[in-house]
Amino acid sequence: MESGWLTTGARTREFEATFAEFVGSAHAVALNSATAALHLGLEAFGVGAGDEVIVPTWTFTASAEVIVYRGARPVLVDVEGETLNASLEAIVAAITPRTRAVMAVHIAGRPMAVRELVGELSPRGIAVIEDTAHAFPSRIGGASGPLAGTVGAVGAYSFYATKTITTGEGGMLVTDDPAIADRARLMSLHGISHDAWKRYTAAGSWYYEVEDAGFKYNMTDMAAAMGLVQLSRAEELLSARRELAATYALRIARSSVGDLIELPTDAPDGSHAWHLYIVRLALERLTLDRGQVIDGLKELGIGTSVHFIPLHLHPYYRRDWGYRAPDFPVASHEYQRVISLPIWPGMSTADIERVVRGLVVVVGGARR
Ligand SMILES: *Cc1c(COP(=O)(O)O)cnc(C)c1O
Repeated sequence: MESGWLTTGARTREFEATFAEFVGSAHAVALNSATAALHLGLEAFGVGAGDEVIVPTWTFTASAEVIVYRGARPVLVDVEGETLNASLEAIVAAITPRTRAVMAVHIAGRPMAVRELVGELSPRGIAVIEDTAHAFPSRIGGASGPLAGTVGAVGAYSFYATKTITTGEGGMLVTDDPAIADRARLMSLHGISHDAWKRYTAAGSWYYEVEDAGFKYNMTDMAAAMGLVQLSRAEELLSARRELAATYALRIARSSVGDLIELPTDAPDGSHAWHLYIVRLALERLTLDRGQVIDGLKELGIGTSVHFIPLHLHPYYRRDWGYRAPDFPVASHEYQRVISLPIWPGMSTADIERVVRGLVVVVGGARR
């Protein structure tokens, strides 16, 4: 703030360069949300009316609404029971001659099989856009593997308040393709020809040209300044989340409700980013439903949530696109029994013990 430069400027450029280097991508475009990154990715590929884009039903609406922004059809697919990610088989089965792109969502931070997906789709000319809102900074396939978000043609990262690193609101688009990066940059700031922000600097000029009807998606320097500090802590924050997830697993398994609560699994390569810690209730052995368990925990001062209400159950996707629960048997079933337990890097072991004690009271008290 003391620099006097509040919106897009040198800090934003520094954050982009640092982020691109961190993830190992040729280009990074800083934006005001991941939603903007997903939208600009589709726009840069020329996805439009009459096209289809495949997206898992188990995700936040942002992954799918951007498809509608482009006038294209969101083709929802069911997910795998264990990972809650779309399976390669379900995605391939949903491909039609109109399919232009796939939204690869890494739910909760557990990376999906994106390398296999790209291998399957690139010969068919279908773009993979990685919705990496949950999975930064996971590496796919072990410590020397690529970062989630850099395997597909475009990666979208979120710096929303709850995500693994944050700028309050913010996002980043990464790509190795200079044409995609140029188009996203152009469209991120009103479709104004290069470096529009520079017109207020000594190096800039009063003259500019509007080349297309763009959007207002640029990141502010204040957000970028936060992002630079957060990025320097990304590995440390990831380690903290991994330790918390391991502690949860141990404490829940050893508790008296270990048989009533199914734990989330890590990927075989240990790449889970643990943005969310989603457990499942063994409802057939309980007298309470999921909503009642959430209410019981809330009464004890423990805030939990549900990630996510599958898209096909929301009024908009039912009404405008005709999706129905029986078309997505796995997601419809798992939705009934998921709860996201609190997880954030500053959480202590005592906090986890308190949550587990709450589960023992509420879930243990509902044993059939
Ligand atoms: C949070 C989230 C987004 C959107 O991120 P914003 O930065 O808030 O736009 C997209 N996809 C998923 C899966 C998310 O959880």
